[in-house]
Amino acid sequence: MVQIEFLRPKSLEELFSMLRQYGKKGKVIAGGTDLMVRLKKEDRMPDYFIALDGIEGLRLVRQGETGIMIGAMTRVHALQTLPIVNERYPILYQALSQLGTPTIRRRATIGGNLCNAAPSADTAPPLMVMGAQLNLIGTEGERTLPIEDFFYGPRLTCLGDNEVLHSIHIPMQKRNIRGRYLKMTRSQGADLATVGVAVWLEMEAGSIKDAKIALGAVAPTPIRAIVAEDILRGEKPTPTLLEACAQAAVAASKPINDIRSSADYRKSLINTLVKRAISQAIDL
Ligand SMILES: Cc1cc2nc3c(=O)[nH]c(=O)nc-3n(C[C@H](O)[C@H](O)[C@H](O)COP(=O)(O)OP(=O)(O)OC[C@H]3O[C@@H](n4cnc5c(N)ncnc54)[C@H](O)[C@@H]3O)c2cc1C
Repeated sequence: MVQIEFLRPKSLEELFSMLRQYGKKGKVIAGGTDLMVRLKKEDRMPDYFIALDGIEGLRLVRQGETGIMIGAMTRVHALQTLPIVNERYPILYQALSQLGTPTIRRRATIGGNLCNAAPSADTAPPLMVMGAQLNLIGTEGERTLPIEDFFYGPRLTCLGDNEVLHSIHIPMQKRNIRGRYLKMTRSQGADLATVGVAVWLEMEAGSIKDAKIALGAVAPTPIRAIVAEDILRGEKPTPTLLEACAQAAVAASKPINDIRSSADYRKSLINTLVKRAISQAIDL
C-alpha cells in the first residue's frame, strides 16, 4: 500500500521550509476537488500532500477603500455568502453561485480554481473583467501581477516551483458598473462551462463609456475579447452594435472539439451569450 504523508503547515515560513525540503515529492493541496480527481485519473500520487488550510493569512477576506482582498484559501461557498460580494462584486457572485454543486462549493477554494488553470474555470472571466491582481508568494519573495498574465495554458500557470497564490485583489467597482457572468453547460446539473462569458460595462448617460469582455472554455486559457470591447466603447447599445461585438468576440476565440461541444457550437454559443450578457447587464 502507498504511504502518503499529509503535512499541514501553520505559517508561510513553515510552508516554504516544506516546499524547499520536499521539492517535487510534495504537492500543494487546497480543497482537493480538482487535484484528487486528476491524480486518480493519472494513477499517480505524491509522497507528501502539503495542505494550505492551516495558514490563517490565506483564508482572510478584507474589504478596504481600494477594493477587496481575498485569501486564496477562501472557500467558494464562504465567499459567495458574504453580502459584500453580492452587493459590490455581483459578476463574481454570479460565477461562484454556478461553480459545481453545494458540496463542491463548500470544499473548493477560489485559489484552487485559478491555480488549476482549467480554461473553463468559472472565477477567471469575472476576475479578468474586474481588473483583479494576483499576489504570489514563495521562497524567492513576493510579486503581484494582473490575472491575465497568470495563465500560460491548460493546467499551466506562471507559478514557480516554490511559489503559491497568496491572495486576489479586486479593485472597488464603481456604482455605474453593470455586469453579467453567463455560463452554458451540457445539462442543467453541475458541469464545467462549455462556454463562459463575463461582461463588464461602465455606463454614462445611456452610452457605454468603457467595456470589458472575458471568455472561458474557448481557448487554451481564459481570454479577453479586446476588439469586441473596443466596438462597444463610446457607443449607445443597439442590436447592430451588439451583433458586431459578438462577432468580434467569436473571432477572438480558438475553441476546440471535445466531449462538451464541437468548436463550431462553441462559436455560436459565444455569439449568443455575449449579446445576452450585455442585454441583461443593461436591461435592454
Ligand atoms: C463534481 C465537480 C464539479 C465541478 N464543477 C466546477 C464548475 O462548475 N466550475 C469550475 O470552475 N470548476 C468546477 N470544478 C473544479 C473544482 O471544484 C474547482 O476548480 C475548485 O475551485 C478547485 O479548488 P480546490 O481548492 O479544490 O483546488 P485543489 O484541487 O486543491 O487544487 C487545484 C490545483 O491548484 C493547486 N493549488 C491550489 N491552491 C493553490 C495555491 N493557493 N497556490 C498554488 N497552487 C495551488 C493545487 O496544487 C492543484 O494543482 C468541479 C469539480 C468537481 C469534482
